[in-house]
Amino acid sequence: MSKFKMGVFAVGLASAAILAGATGVANAAGEKFVTVGTGGQTGVYYVVGQSICKLVNRGTAKTGIKCTAPSTGGSIDNINAIRAGSRDVGVAQSDWQFHAYNGTSKFSEQGPLKDLRAVFSVHPEPFTVVARSDSGIKSFADLKGKRVNIGNPGSGQRGTMEVLMGALGWQMSDFKLASELKAAEQSAALCDNNVDAIIYTVGHPNGSIQEASTSCDAIVVPVTGAEVDKLVGDNPFYAAAKIPGGMYKGTDKDVPTFGVRATFVASANTDADTIYEVVKAVFDNFDRFKKLHPAFANLDPKEMIKAGLSAPLHDGAARYYKEKGWM
Ligand code: GLU
Repeated sequence: MSKFKMGVFAVGLASAAILAGATGVANAAGEKFVTVGTGGQTGVYYVVGQSICKLVNRGTAKTGIKCTAPSTGGSIDNINAIRAGSRDVGVAQSDWQFHAYNGTSKFSEQGPLKDLRAVFSVHPEPFTVVARSDSGIKSFADLKGKRVNIGNPGSGQRGTMEVLMGALGWQMSDFKLASELKAAEQSAALCDNNVDAIIYTVGHPNGSIQEASTSCDAIVVPVTGAEVDKLVGDNPFYAAAKIPGGMYKGTDKDVPTFGVRATFVASANTDADTIYEVVKAVFDNFDRFKKLHPAFANLDPKEMIKAGLSAPLHDGAARYYKEKGWM
């Protein structure tokens, strides 16, 4: 889908919500619309949003809540849409949740988004570098001088890539080419030999990486070193991570890197009853939720309400967790 079409699609959904009254607010027919910001269609955020909505929409007759989860540019776009009031909820990396709430890093110009609320965390997302095997790239350091897709500006991986580049003292001009393709376009660009490597902060296994590893011998390469260790040591939202060996063709051993957590966030302006119902739909049907993507297999509710969260919990979420005795 082109950028233009994607934009029209997103605006269309936002205006449907506005016509219905306002996001998260019931219209005359008692309907409430919730729009979940996700990511590209080849990622796991899209599955998170679709899965949440599937469970929420089973209860529409009772709750009046209608949930949609369109494809978006990713974490930064989703947080910006919450700031703009055009979406109620979205998925965002734990590092960008932290920076948005505190007004740091990429969000220092916009300032703290004090209306940002955490709902729960989802799957771990290792910072993943995938390279053509004929490119000679064996580690992150080898990306210098190569053609690298650094990601679209609204994505979480683009932001995290910039942070890592800053830690290493790298400039965009250190690459032969720094392209800004969206996640859904980058595996094809890799296999068409338009780029040597792609970056994706994503849950595993991921379909688009599987595709690249089988159709053009792409391999997952390590992201390690003193600067990475320092980022992990200095920041609570990063952790050491590994991409399990055997998950992708040509990558038989575990690949070390660092990672974040996917988190589900909301606006404090979305009413507590709505968020309560969304959270209840997920956790009352948690076995069903976990089966919707293999990256969800190890999720544990009590851990999900703490890990990777830096903004305060939304009141509606806290109400459900207290009822369950989880806090
Ligand atoms: N972590 C990516 C982002 O923040 C999205 C990954 C996905 O779509 O699963 O943009």
